[in-house]
Amino acid sequence: MPEACNAKGCRVSVPAGQATERLCVLHFTLFIEQECDEMRRQSALGNANHERQAEFMQKISGRGEALVRVATSGFPMSDELKARILSTLLTLMNCRENLDRAAMRQSGLRRFPG
Ligand SMILES: [Zn+2]
Repeated sequence: MPEACNAKGCRVSVPAGQATERLCVLHFTLFIEQECDEMRRQSALGNANHERQAEFMQKISGRGEALVRVATSGFPMSDELKARILSTLLTLMNCRENLDRAAMRQSGLRRFPG
């Protein structure tokens, strides 16, 4: 029996190998988008120190890998869902770029205070 998604009111089954967050593909992509928003917000505010930023980077590549694994696992998906996965991958890539830029800005600020 496949597991049902953890999201409230969702009865869609979770793809095998997607056990970490126990979310269906759609809710997994929504979850990632939320995480990206939060990471972007925190680094834009300058709230993320070096360790935190390293953590964010790791999270991004981890999510990307998980997403690609699901996408290529042969789990049946509608074209809409496939497009959703691609757009979430794009979000991850942009988020990563964003964090890189924020990190560069921050190290610049540290080097030239005032
Ligand atoms: Zn779901």
